[in-house]
Amino acid sequence: MKTLIENLKLWMAEEDIKEQELMKNHTTFRVGGPARLFLSIRSGDVLAKVVSYLSEYNIPYFVLGNGSNLLVPDCGYPGVILYLEKEFSYIKREDNILIAGGAALLSQIAGSALKAGLTGLEFAAGIPGTIGGGTVMNAGAYGGELAQVITKVQVMDERGEIVTLEKEQLEFGYRNSIFKKKPYIILEVTMKLTTGVYEEIHKKMKEYQSARKEKQPLEFPSAGSTFKRPPNHFAGKLIMDAGLRGVCVGDAQVSEKHCGFVINRGNATAEDIITLMKKIQETVKEKFGVELEPEVIRLEE
Ligand SMILES: Cc1cc2nc3c(=O)[nH]c(=O)nc-3n(C[C@H](O)[C@H](O)[C@H](O)COP(=O)(O)OP(=O)(O)OC[C@H]3O[C@@H](n4cnc5c(N)ncnc54)[C@H](O)[C@@H]3O)c2cc1C
Repeated sequence: MKTLIENLKLWMAEEDIKEQELMKNHTTFRVGGPARLFLSIRSGDVLAKVVSYLSEYNIPYFVLGNGSNLLVPDCGYPGVILYLEKEFSYIKREDNILIAGGAALLSQIAGSALKAGLTGLEFAAGIPGTIGGGTVMNAGAYGGELAQVITKVQVMDERGEIVTLEKEQLEFGYRNSIFKKKPYIILEVTMKLTTGVYEEIHKKMKEYQSARKEKQPLEFPSAGSTFKRPPNHFAGKLIMDAGLRGVCVGDAQVSEKHCGFVINRGNATAEDIITLMKKIQETVKEKFGVELEPEVIRLEE
């Protein structure tokens, strides 16, 4: 690590290199211990140098988006967190095409679509992630998902080379994409939308926002739906029918408002959340024979 830090100082400003940065400050669950190194990346050139160095020396790294689908252990992460800064959060428009940097927030991209009178991203306005994280997850809601609008993605591979992937190469599925198995860093996403009517797009976004406020425990830290929707079922309903509504482990709780959400009531640890998730999986399996697969990504060592 010492040599790595010395090298990093040649490439980056010192304030962009943080040691032992607490990940609870970078996740919507508000849990997670320290990352060995946390790097604020401000250019593609620096990213290429850092990534090729880390790959060459087999130093583990992880790309952080907005941390809204992430569970980081209490012991933290012994590798390097790469955080794409505002230089990667641009949004450009060419007619009905939107091109967004990997760190642009979905809410801002949906806002740009609305402003331009483009329809297709109404579902994304209330998802609290970046387009990078959203593309990895093929984020979706209310019948929409990013796979419906993404046409290509520009990525950096582990050697620091920039590659463009066309839609057919992205292997989109339900909360799934090629990025779950390949260590690409998403730099830029191109989306094709359709010309619509501002008032209608706005109305739909407001309806979805109200539905979220009414049904989801947005007043507590969480990572959204904890589990994926199992075929022919709804995770939240299975959890409720299994009698788990409101069940706690420490300060982690099955939300009383929406059983599909595990929430942090204030001082939950990652261990509390993991133990509660296991309890939910075991109980639902025992009562209904259904396996619940986590949607939340666990940052392993
Ligand atoms: C209140 C709430 C509501 C939510 N509602 C929804 C919903 O309706 N629908 C839905 O699908 N999700 C929902 N989510 C979950 C979450 O917002 C989405 O999965 C979101 O797309 C994650 O994006 P992120 O930037 O926060 O990614 P992170 O949580 O930071 O990361 C997720 C994964 O993406 C990877 N990643 C992030 N950026 C990049 C990049 N540039 N290059 C390569 N890999 C990258 C990370 O390494 C990680 O593997 C909700 C979450 C919350 C807290």
